[in-house]
Amino acid sequence: MPWDFSTEPEWEEQLEWMRNFLRTEILPLETLHLDHETFFRAIRPLQQQVKDRGLWAAHLDPEHGGQGYGQVKLALMHEILGMSELGPPVFGNQAPDSGNAELLALAATDEQKDEWLAPLLAGEILSAFSMTEQGTGSDPKQFTTAAVRDGDEWVINGSKWFVSNGDRAAFHILMAVTDPSVHPYEGQSMIIVPTDKAGIEMRPIGVMNDPDHKGPLHDHCEVHYRDVRVPYSNLLGDEGGAFVLAQKRLGPGRIHHCMRWIGVAQRAFDDMCERSVSMSVHGSRLADKQFVQDFIALSAADLSASRLLTLHAAWKIDQVGASETRQEIAMIKYHGAKVMHDILDRAIQVYGSLGFSTDMPLAEMYAYARAARLYDGPDEVHKATVAKIVTRRYEPVEIPTDHVPTRRVAAMEKYANLFDVVSAQ
Ligand SMILES: Cc1cc2nc3c(=O)[nH]c(=O)nc-3n(C[C@H](O)[C@H](O)[C@H](O)COP(=O)(O)OP(=O)(O)OC[C@H]3O[C@@H](n4cnc5c(N)ncnc54)[C@H](O)[C@@H]3O)c2cc1C
Repeated sequence: MPWDFSTEPEWEEQLEWMRNFLRTEILPLETLHLDHETFFRAIRPLQQQVKDRGLWAAHLDPEHGGQGYGQVKLALMHEILGMSELGPPVFGNQAPDSGNAELLALAATDEQKDEWLAPLLAGEILSAFSMTEQGTGSDPKQFTTAAVRDGDEWVINGSKWFVSNGDRAAFHILMAVTDPSVHPYEGQSMIIVPTDKAGIEMRPIGVMNDPDHKGPLHDHCEVHYRDVRVPYSNLLGDEGGAFVLAQKRLGPGRIHHCMRWIGVAQRAFDDMCERSVSMSVHGSRLADKQFVQDFIALSAADLSASRLLTLHAAWKIDQVGASETRQEIAMIKYHGAKVMHDILDRAIQVYGSLGFSTDMPLAEMYAYARAARLYDGPDEVHKATVAKIVTRRYEPVEIPTDHVPTRRVAAMEKYANLFDVVSAQ
């Protein structure tokens, strides 16, 4: 029976290259606080090195320029890249572009692939995924943004919220109600909306780690669509097929997110341990104080548990596909987000005021970790999913299966002969 936690030597060599590349080429960029345009110009030569190494956009199939590695290899890769938010764009797999590219690869027509997927994969344009509506983000059944067919066109009206890269993207993949008469899971469609269309208005929203939306990577936009017209042929996949497509996209994407979170948590853990052996107060090193030992011991176990949970989910997707792996994919979302959050919180505590300052990257990483408990659906929704799947396996009973007096009566009957023998002695 195969039960193997080892990594192929050839892939380990690639991972080692990525670790060095991240440390020597990408982490230094963090300290420069580049704006969006300058950052993307600065990483062009780095992106070329990644392409030369055959690691560009590795999440896609070979026919779309990826490598077809499978989820376990990708997971190990994302653990390294994810240590810095600046890692994924250098490797052509930053959210939301990586997920959008997967959607286009899955469902786009040849014309749509030529127009949108090819330049996206070449790193020439950015994209956005426009789904959440304010106040109902956790319940897509309540979305109201609608696209109505008018001859050869869709006419779109409604508002979306927190659309990452909304105003930097060349196009949005919009989730819109196209048939309000059926169940919401069957009445919404995905439509490609070029952002230069008339009637689109966007406002970048300030967030915890980027109040003035000047960060190098994403901003997050409120988007209003007012009588926006796009060709009918911009429909992505089937009419009414948005939820089916979204599910296909989310599974593997979540593995990548969670492994990036493990990378972030590992970095915070390393920082915490380094500090604990470097600083002494009240007569001993922090590493020798039981409060700090508790932080370190809990964090080491949390990190290991989350990593194994995520790699197991990745392995299961490779074996039986994403839809059979729903429970595992939902579990890693809330487990991984909480582990990253808690380890960062402990690391900041161990660094004291230095941890809270921007002289260390921990405060920035903490804000990133806080968001992880919300995006991709808040933790509560995933917990509810897991509880539902799990409890479906149980039947209601009048007497608990493990009820000791009942089991004792059964045991007395089962072993009646034995008791006869014992009492005869
Ligand atoms: C950094 C970041 C990037 C994002 N990028 C995008 C993007 O590119 N595109 C996009 O469309 N969206 C994006 N989002 C939005 C994200 O998908 C939503 O924030 C998420 O789905 C939750 O929706 P909401 O914020 O409207 O929360 P709400 O629906 O308002 O929920 C608020 C809270 O209610 C509670 N709650 C909700 N449902 C339940 C339940 N069933 N049981 C118990 N409690 C519950 C939870 O505590 C939840 O946090 C992004 C969000 C963030 C933070």
